[in-house]
Amino acid sequence: MDDCIFCKIINGEIPSDIVYEDENVLAFKDINPQMPIHILIIPKKHIESIIDLKSEDETLVGKIFTVINSIARDIGIDKTGFRVISNCGENAGQTVKHLHFHILAGEKMGEKII
Ligand code: 5GP
Ligand code: ZN
Repeated sequence: MDDCIFCKIINGEIPSDIVYEDENVLAFKDINPQMPIHILIIPKKHIESIIDLKSEDETLVGKIFTVINSIARDIGIDKTGFRVISNCGENAGQTVKHLHFHILAGEKMGEKII
């Protein structure tokens, strides 16, 4: 997708602070962190949001959550805890139309973060 910010991050057109990368998944630090730790995990395939997922994407979504598990252990938030959020659509406040999961951690959180 030519006008997608996250596709541009995937192909290196826009620089990012990469935390994890494999052939299907990329994780990088959010440019405007809402918590001390704020990482975004995205599929390299352009999928707009959760509502656009197809059955063929099941393995990919499973992989994303395995990566979240692995990043959480690597950066040491597996014991203290963290939140995973995916905003879907306008009323949820989704601003980037490329499926992404926020990992938020680093301090005790209330109900509303993002
Ligand atoms: P949404 O509001 O769609 O759930 O989340 C989009 C997230 O992408 C926001 O937290 C925003 O700060 C982040 N973001 C937007 N543009 C960029 C960018 O160019 N680089 C990085 N690293 N994060 C971005
Ligand atoms: Zn995209």
